[in-house]
Amino acid sequence: MHQSADTAGQIRQGSPFLWINPQRQANFNTGLPLTLEDIRHADNRLRRFAPLLTQLFPELQEAGGLIESRLHPVPSLQANVFPDLTGQLLIKGDHALPVAGSVKARGGIYEVLCHSEALALAHGILTDTDDDYLKLISEAAKTLFSQYEVAVSSTGNLGLSIGVISAALGFKATVHMSVEAKEWKKNRLRNRGVKVVEHKDDYSAAVAAGRAESDADPKSYFVDDENSQQLFTGYAVAALRLQQQLNDADIAVDAEHPLFVYLPCGVGGAPGGIAYGLRLILGPHVHCFFAEPVEAPCVLVGMQAPAETDIESVYDFGLKVATEADGLAVSKASPWVCSMMRTLLDGIFTVDDDRLFEYLYQLQQCEDISIEPSAAAGFTGPDMLTATPAGQAYLSNHKLDDKLDNSTHLLWTTGGLFVPPEEMDKFSARGKDLLGA
Ligand SMILES: *Cc1c(COP(=O)(O)O)cnc(C)c1O
Repeated sequence: MHQSADTAGQIRQGSPFLWINPQRQANFNTGLPLTLEDIRHADNRLRRFAPLLTQLFPELQEAGGLIESRLHPVPSLQANVFPDLTGQLLIKGDHALPVAGSVKARGGIYEVLCHSEALALAHGILTDTDDDYLKLISEAAKTLFSQYEVAVSSTGNLGLSIGVISAALGFKATVHMSVEAKEWKKNRLRNRGVKVVEHKDDYSAAVAAGRAESDADPKSYFVDDENSQQLFTGYAVAALRLQQQLNDADIAVDAEHPLFVYLPCGVGGAPGGIAYGLRLILGPHVHCFFAEPVEAPCVLVGMQAPAETDIESVYDFGLKVATEADGLAVSKASPWVCSMMRTLLDGIFTVDDDRLFEYLYQLQQCEDISIEPSAAAGFTGPDMLTATPAGQAYLSNHKLDDKLDNSTHLLWTTGGLFVPPEEMDKFSARGKDLLGA
């Protein structure tokens, strides 16, 4: 296929480009396994746990125990950094998600709650799902959970999410950290009694090692970022919440008012679950794009494979996963996520590390919002779409070019809340320097 040969060459080059998914369909593929009802069930489960979460994490009091982020208008960022963008620029602020400080609060916490609920039901701590969930912080529950382990492999943020919620519920928690994980993320976990295992290898290797160790212990539960439908479902709940926020802000999403969403992407689960939910709930007029580092475009590679069993790693394209975006530093995509995205995703663009720091700095300057480098990956999206030949061809093919004035562009900022101030200062100094500001 001519198109995929070109794409392979562009991936190898390691320069930023936009790939448009030729298999994207306007209609939602109803053959896919996760339904709107499943996502509603997940939202209901999170609501059952809300009183308990408020007890465990007092910072959730104001939000009634729901872990959710704001939808931010960013007028100064739009005026100063995106002056040519017509339509409205918004940020979905998962950089500030409480408890875990990143988008991983959605999927990771959800999966551990599912596991604790199942154990509690099986052992009679809860009689049914209408029972009082505060029983999960009783001594009896603590004694039960302390016999079980929750394990996960991570480049940092998933470990933070799983480790914190698991330890809070009384599980033994083990986090396998890949080589790129930042020291402060490991320390934050150790301070909460989480066992941190440091690996010298990349993320895919840390997943394989963590999974093997956990599978050998019947009382250990492994949160499998490459294969977990529960993680994915937890992420998808974001779509229900965003729908409400768009309604509250009187922002329409329809044929005349397209919504473009730019999502930083690592192994694919978080942006995949969110995009899945958005396409299912908001329909064909939401257009989802993933953003990956030029050195680690694993889902872009994965989407080129003719079959999910043949997915290659970015190393096969001469790339090295050399990126400061630790949340996105993944060499091989989740095959399952690639299959789920086949007809739903609009495209993927790659981004140079330098741009992450520039946008991080500009966002701080314009809006006083601080994010981690990974979370800035989507910021080149509007330009990729409106100012590159590939993007312009896409807009014209979908008859979107005359709708841009009425469009909404949503940058999903995926992490940053717990970055220590001295680290954040280094990030923004680097961006400032790059901009010659
Ligand atoms: C994990 C992560 C992502 C991407 O999620 P995946 O499920 O790995 O694709 C994006 N941004 C940040 C900050 C993350 O931690």
